[in-house]
Amino acid sequence: MNKDKKYYIIGNWKMNPENKKDAKKIFGEIKKASQRRRSKIIICPPFVYLNAMYTGRLPKSLSIGAQNCFWKERGSFTGEISPTQLVDMKVEYVILGHSERRTLGEDDGLVSKKIKALLSNGLRPIVCVGESERDGDGRYLNFLESQLDTVFSDVVSAELDRVVIAYEPVWAIGKNEDDAITGHSLYEIVILIKRFLSRKYGKERGFSVPIIYGGSVSPSNAEGILGEGNADGLLIGRESLDPKSFSKIIELADNL
Ligand code: PEP
Repeated sequence: MNKDKKYYIIGNWKMNPENKKDAKKIFGEIKKASQRRRSKIIICPPFVYLNAMYTGRLPKSLSIGAQNCFWKERGSFTGEISPTQLVDMKVEYVILGHSERRTLGEDDGLVSKKIKALLSNGLRPIVCVGESERDGDGRYLNFLESQLDTVFSDVVSAELDRVVIAYEPVWAIGKNEDDAITGHSLYEIVILIKRFLSRKYGKERGFSVPIIYGGSVSPSNAEGILGEGNADGLLIGRESLDPKSFSKIIELADNL
């Protein structure tokens, strides 16, 4: 047991559930399970439910996040949400560059602008990176490095302590729990990301950035991914909408 380690357990609800009543119900159960936890639990509902999450006081271990954000603070950008608006909604964390947004046209350059905008407004980006597929000769490792290079191009050392990196290989998202990454394989990626950060920002700062994993996490694979994979947490899609599963994962992380 490593009692000093605080894991990030983050729920990405995507475009779910279908109504506010269900959102409040799921959140209420997660809120109960988040009391007096060592882990940092972050729930990222759709924008339209953000306000509904703040009924009563939140446990210290629970925070609210958003799933995206625009990079300008105001102006004629129909349909977008600005960092200042998220701050006003008491949001602390924002998922950026999720592969489902990249499928809709978002690229590393845009993600880089968004990171900068969030950091300038005191928000904490959860930056998603990850390859679409793996090849036998390690080209996916170069892909990952070049993705990191671009998205971190404007982040300065003093801002780094507010960043979380989510390694989310696209091939593992939305699959069966057996298709998630193995702890061993994740460990290699965690090292690659730490190496990249230490080259750019120095070892002390580089090693302090939390690196979490996302892709078909469930209560049955969470422990191995966190333990053997040496990850600092998990980004969880589908299972975060099931309060029982999600609470189980929180419990596992707290007892590791
Ligand atoms: C995600 O989309 O961020 C994700 C990890 O989804 P799932 O857990 O459902 O694979």
